[in-house]
Amino acid sequence: MTISNECDFDAVVVGAGFGGMYMMHLLAQRGFKARGIERGGDVGGTWYWNRYPGCQCDVESMEYSYQFSDELQQKWNWTQRYAGQPEILRYANHVADAFDLRRRFTFNTSVTAATYHDDEKVWHVGTDTGETVTARFLIMATGCLSATNTPAFAGLNDFAGPTYHTGAWPHDGVDFSGQKVAVIGTGSSAVQSIPLIARQAADLTVFQRTAAYTIPARNMPLDPERAAQIKANYKEFRARGALSPAAFGADYPRNLDSVLDATPEERERRFEEYWQHGGFMFLAAFSDISLNMDANRLAADFVRGKIRSIVTDPDVAELLCPDTVLGCKRLCADNGYYETYNLPHVHLVDVSSHPIEKLTAKGIVTNGKEYEFDAIVFATGFDAMTGSLLNCNIVGRDGLPLRQKWAAGPGNYLGLMTTGFPNMFTITGPGSPSALANLITGIEQHAEFITGLIAWADARGHRTVDAIQEEEDRWVEIVNQRANFTLYPNCNSWYLGANVPGKPRVFMPYIGFPDYSKKLRSVVASEYEQLMFA
Ligand code: NAP
Repeated sequence: MTISNECDFDAVVVGAGFGGMYMMHLLAQRGFKARGIERGGDVGGTWYWNRYPGCQCDVESMEYSYQFSDELQQKWNWTQRYAGQPEILRYANHVADAFDLRRRFTFNTSVTAATYHDDEKVWHVGTDTGETVTARFLIMATGCLSATNTPAFAGLNDFAGPTYHTGAWPHDGVDFSGQKVAVIGTGSSAVQSIPLIARQAADLTVFQRTAAYTIPARNMPLDPERAAQIKANYKEFRARGALSPAAFGADYPRNLDSVLDATPEERERRFEEYWQHGGFMFLAAFSDISLNMDANRLAADFVRGKIRSIVTDPDVAELLCPDTVLGCKRLCADNGYYETYNLPHVHLVDVSSHPIEKLTAKGIVTNGKEYEFDAIVFATGFDAMTGSLLNCNIVGRDGLPLRQKWAAGPGNYLGLMTTGFPNMFTITGPGSPSALANLITGIEQHAEFITGLIAWADARGHRTVDAIQEEEDRWVEIVNQRANFTLYPNCNSWYLGANVPGKPRVFMPYIGFPDYSKKLRSVVASEYEQLMFA
C-alpha cells in the first residue's frame, strides 16, 4: 500500500465492536496505518454496553460469529444455542487477543467532531480528550443500536432513586432484591430482562405503550454433535446462511407456500411447529407472513391465542395481546416473558391511552395516579441507525454537517457512503441490510468491501472516493420500494425512525441480504463505476 504520509493515519476507525475490530484487522493485514477510537473501556460494542440481566443474542451462536478465520471458528466453542451477553463479550475479547487488536484502539475516548478538509483531502477527527488526529479515511463502525434513547419525560431528573438504561447497564450488575422496580418499555431488551428482574425484585411494574410479539427462544445448551457437524462443513453452512433473506437460519426450511392456501389444521400444525422451534424463524412458517395483511393476521391470531393460554388473568392477557402487525416492529424472542405476568408481584400498566405524565421524586405518574418505586429501568431503546453517527458531529465537503444533509432522512449509497463526505464509510449504515440481517455477516461483508475499495483506489493513485448523488437518491428509493413491498412500513418502528420524536420517517434497512450481496459484487466487478474518484 502507498497511501500518503501527509496525515497521521491512513484511516481512523470509530468503534471497537465487531465492525471496528474486523475493519482494523483487515487494514492492519494490508499494511495500512490505522487508529481506532472507542467510547467504551474495551472491545465489544453492543455487548460491552448491554449488560442487563437476560441479555442474549436472538441469532444462533454458530451463525452469530465471525467466519473470516477458519481457525477461529473451529477453535471457539459456544456453550448455548443462543449465546448470552457475557459469552459474546468473552468471544469479542478472545478475538481482540487472537488478532492483537486491542493495542490499535484508544479506549474511553469519544469522537466529538470529524471534519473533512477539502484542500488537504483529509479528515480531522477530534475527541473528548482534546486530541485531534488526521486521516485519509474515516470509517464509522459505531453500530446500529448504540445511541440510547431516553424519552424526555417531564421531571426526568426528579426521581430520587437510581435509574438504569438497558443499553448502558452498570458493569457490576444491579441487585434489585427487596425493591419495588419499574420497567418502562416492552421491546426486546425489556422482554429479555423482565423475567430476570422479576426473580429478584419484591415488586415489579411494567409500563407498556405497545404490546410486543415474542416467540419463546427455547435456548438450551448447544448440542456438541450439532456443533461438530456444522464445523465439519462450516464453509457450506455459512454459504447457505448467506443465501437466506436475513443471512441466518442456514439449516431451517423456509416454506414457499401461503398461509392463505393452508387448511386450518395445516396452518395450526405449522404455526405450532415453528412456535416450538422458537425465535425468529416463526416468520418463516409460511412465505407471506411479512407480506400479506391477511396472512399476517392469521399468524398474529395464533400468537394471541398462545398469550391467552399462558397468562392466567384474562385482563392482563388482553393487555399483552398486540394489535399491531406481527414482525413489523422487530419480533422478540424470550425466556418466560408472558409467564412472568402470572407472578403475584408483577403488574402491568397500560400507557397507550394515558401516557406517562411525569416522573416525581417517588416514582411515575400516569392517568392521574402516582406509582412509587425504589428504582426505574428505561428499556426505551435507541436512536437507531443514525444516532451514533450524528452524535459524532461529522462535517463533510463545503462545511456541510451530516445532521443537515440527513435532515429529511439518511441518504446513503449502499449503506456505505454518503455523497459529499469523501473517503467516509459507514459499516452496516442506513441503506444496508444492517439490523435486518445477521449483523456479524453484514459487518464482514462491509469491512471486506471497504478494504478492497481503498486498496483499489490507492493502487490507481486516487486520493478520494465519493458516492454520486443520483446513485444515492436511486438507492434510497430502492430501499424504500423494497420495504413498501412488505408490511414493515405499517407501524411506528425504529426501522422507520418512528420511535424518536422529530426523527424523519424513512425506512432505513435494506431488506434482502442475498440481493444486496449481488449488488455489492456487481459494483466490484464493474470496478466501482458507480462511484466517483479523484
Ligand atoms: P425498542 O425495541 O425500541 O423498545 C423500546 C420500548 O420502549 C418500546 O416498548 C417502546 O414503546 C417503549 N417506549 C419508548 N418511549 C416510550 C415512552 N415515551 N413511553 C412509554 N414507553 C416508551 O428498544 P429495545 O428493546 O432496546 O430493542 C431495540 C433493538 O435492539 C431491538 O429491536 C433489537 O434489534 C436490538 N436488541 C436485540 C436483542 C437480541 O438480539 N436479543 C436484545 C435487545 C435488543 P413503543 O413500542 O410504543 O414505542
